[in-house]
Amino acid sequence: MKVMKFGGTSVGKPHRMQEVAKLISKDAEPKIVVLSALSGTTNALVEISQSLSKGDRNAAREQIDALELHYRQFIKDLLKQPQSLERAGAIIAEHFEFLTIILKISFSEALNKDILAQGELLSTKIFCVYLDEAGLDHVLLPALDFMTIDGYDEPQIGTIKVKLAQLLQKHKDKNIFITQGYISRNARGEVDNLKRGGSDYSASLIAAAINASVCEIWTDIDGMHNNDPRVVEKTVPIDQLSFEEAAELAYFGAKILHPASIWPAQYYNVPVRLLNTLFPEAKGTLITEKAGSVGVKAVAAKDGITAIKIKSSRMLLAYGFLRKVFEVFEKYRTSIDMITTSEVAVSVTIDNDIYLTEITKELEVFGTVEIDTNQTIVSIVGNEITETKDIMQKLFESIAVVPVRMISYGGSRHNISLLIARNDKEQTLQLLNKGLFRL
Ligand code: ASP
Ligand code: MG
Repeated sequence: MKVMKFGGTSVGKPHRMQEVAKLISKDAEPKIVVLSALSGTTNALVEISQSLSKGDRNAAREQIDALELHYRQFIKDLLKQPQSLERAGAIIAEHFEFLTIILKISFSEALNKDILAQGELLSTKIFCVYLDEAGLDHVLLPALDFMTIDGYDEPQIGTIKVKLAQLLQKHKDKNIFITQGYISRNARGEVDNLKRGGSDYSASLIAAAINASVCEIWTDIDGMHNNDPRVVEKTVPIDQLSFEEAAELAYFGAKILHPASIWPAQYYNVPVRLLNTLFPEAKGTLITEKAGSVGVKAVAAKDGITAIKIKSSRMLLAYGFLRKVFEVFEKYRTSIDMITTSEVAVSVTIDNDIYLTEITKELEVFGTVEIDTNQTIVSIVGNEITETKDIMQKLFESIAVVPVRMISYGGSRHNISLLIARNDKEQTLQLLNKGLFRL
């Protein structure tokens, strides 16, 4: 059994959704098909929620109506038969009625999660109507019946496994199962989600839970590329990556895959394949235990980074200093990405600065604190990259003109990270493309 996950753009237009139906019926292997919401829907739901949280019901009403109109048009273009149109129309009516009722209720976090769940509920139900019309036998497995997270928002893979096995057992004669990405139930039994972009994570958790032959992630690009195609003119897809390499790339900015989606596949050793719905024959990128080859494979960049330097003469020859510094970040549940030290100072980076004021205040007890906002981490990722002989020379030669704020080397054998100003990102990625990949 395999998992096939389709992102928002792959189901975002009626003809694309019809393509998805073709792709899932190409081979006879039983499969669980995980769908995102139609592209743009989750963003629209976030806006509706924000309007409601501000008490602006008129704005929410308008946003809900605009979204409903979009779905009404969508099914008209997707479906032909009157009875299919009627069924899909009833589904839309049901979900938009729910949103309308919400207008009258006072806003809460639980309600916010209910609103956000509507996108995946709609996309999967509408897709199932289309599959019926196309004569493709299938079963809808509601994610809310098996996808659970605990009190720390961590997926409970053991429970997911048991529940999913029970559900599949009920439909032994079926080959195609459709389910929602992103949405889950939390420890209180309420509707919740795996955070933005979480459909990849759903797919990987499901693949791990059923011990799938492969977890296919279908998007609109032919795999993970060696550099950011939005910034650099010439990029090439990467054939094969190890789980470690893929995790570094996903975490440090490659938008194609949600970073959390690596660990379930890695832990349960399920190969992941990144494929392109627009060009299904393309090989895409295969992610397995093995790296495939040695050396630099890709660079990725992550924006919105804040660097914090704590300088203190008390750090000189002292032990326990770093622990005290780290405890401040732990207290504010803020994770650190990069760290570099000298004998009298330590610099760290964070990507979440909601508690920056509080953190700064507590760090000032230890010494002088300097903050640089609007930074970017550029990561150079590859297999045994640090053992590639001329890597440092090539790296520094190619970006000689760019001021580098921090360097992290040797933390893993798969990554070298640089911290630069956000304004230098485009130039840095372009220079690295020439210097490291000769592209
Ligand atoms: N629809 C959700 C989002 O836009 C989840 C996903 O597409 O992965 O974040
Ligand atoms: Mg995505």
